[in-house]
Amino acid sequence: MGEPAALRATRSSDVNVRTSPTGRLRERDAIGSSIAVRDAVKRYGSFHAVDRISIDIEPGEFITLLGPSGSGKTTLLNLVAGFQSLDSGEILVDGKPVHNVPTHKRGFGMVFQSYALFPNMTVSQNVAFPLRMAGVDRATAERRVAETLEIMRLTEHAAKSPSQMSGGQQQRVAIARAIVRRPRVVLMDEPLSALDRRLRESIQIEIRDLHQTIGSTILFVTHDQGEALTMSDRIAVLNAGKIVQIGRPLDIYRHPTDRFVASFVGESNLIEAEILQKRGSTLTMKNRAGYVFSAESRDTIDVGRATVLVRPERIAVSNEPNANSTPVSVTSAIFLGEILRIEAQMEGGEPLLIRCTDMADRPLPAVGDRLHVSWGAADCWVLA
Ligand code: ADP
Ligand code: MG
Repeated sequence: MGEPAALRATRSSDVNVRTSPTGRLRERDAIGSSIAVRDAVKRYGSFHAVDRISIDIEPGEFITLLGPSGSGKTTLLNLVAGFQSLDSGEILVDGKPVHNVPTHKRGFGMVFQSYALFPNMTVSQNVAFPLRMAGVDRATAERRVAETLEIMRLTEHAAKSPSQMSGGQQQRVAIARAIVRRPRVVLMDEPLSALDRRLRESIQIEIRDLHQTIGSTILFVTHDQGEALTMSDRIAVLNAGKIVQIGRPLDIYRHPTDRFVASFVGESNLIEAEILQKRGSTLTMKNRAGYVFSAESRDTIDVGRATVLVRPERIAVSNEPNANSTPVSVTSAIFLGEILRIEAQMEGGEPLLIRCTDMADRPLPAVGDRLHVSWGAADCWVLA
């Protein structure tokens, strides 16, 4: 699936478009800006809402700020948008400092949790609004609105008023309004939080596709780890005003730097264990139950005690012991359709959560049943 024909046809006349040496439009990084945040600080009194954050965002990248409520996501987004000013540090867009550029001159598209549509305007009037403000001529504006409604699959709703639309549709109108000028940067602050789960998941995919189509740099804020994993090229995990880890979704999920990231992103078992031996990045470890297993780590881990992360879906379960396994006792088992969710206790008392997908020949375990679990080095990550 390519982009809609209407958009393809008009792109060559768009001032924002850069073409590759062959003259062909590059798909992804065609119009997005780079954003560099350097040592950004924002204080409220003595409280550091943003505490020396630095981040380099590539042109056309989809980057997500992920963190719990109060971690500073909105403050950072507002600094980039120009709604708030830095106490120190700087923000560069395409290499140029923006601290003297007011919000409306930054030309960014913005989407918030509340749709903030104009209730007395139709859908197409709402989407046309930024073009009117920019003094775009009528014919161009009409064409742009039509294209944008098509991209967001809103064409049939053009003449409706916002009150005649569902929450999901209204948010798609707000997104259409944010992208109608083909901004180099789109900022989104928890745009899907007010929607129910199924709607949220379908709009997540729409926003991803939209990003492929328009090529803008997207800075997206969420507290929902699943959403961040689904949508992003890279995720910056925030805690207490700092970025604690930045990386691709798979890296963040598999190789979190610390307990905070490990427990915030995905479900996790954090197991205390002693490092018996270290060979390169592979460690031999023993936990309280006396279970000896291998684990992967960064090279910098010292011998001693450590916390290891084992994801619940990476644990192999068997009814019989084998050379690599350790026994556990079931404390709860729930059938969830595609998986079986088992809570168990290891010898020594540590709890273990297991998400078991290969359950075709397995009856639902009962509380008190004994099972035998194991995991491989690749499924076991030592935290810093
Ligand atoms: P998030 O978007 O991650 O939930 P925010 O960026 O909104 O977090 O807020 C970060 C911290 O800064 C919070 O502790 C919040 O209470 C505080 N904060 C935000 N805005 C203000 C303000 N205008 N005055 C005082 N404290 C604020
Ligand atoms: Mg917020």
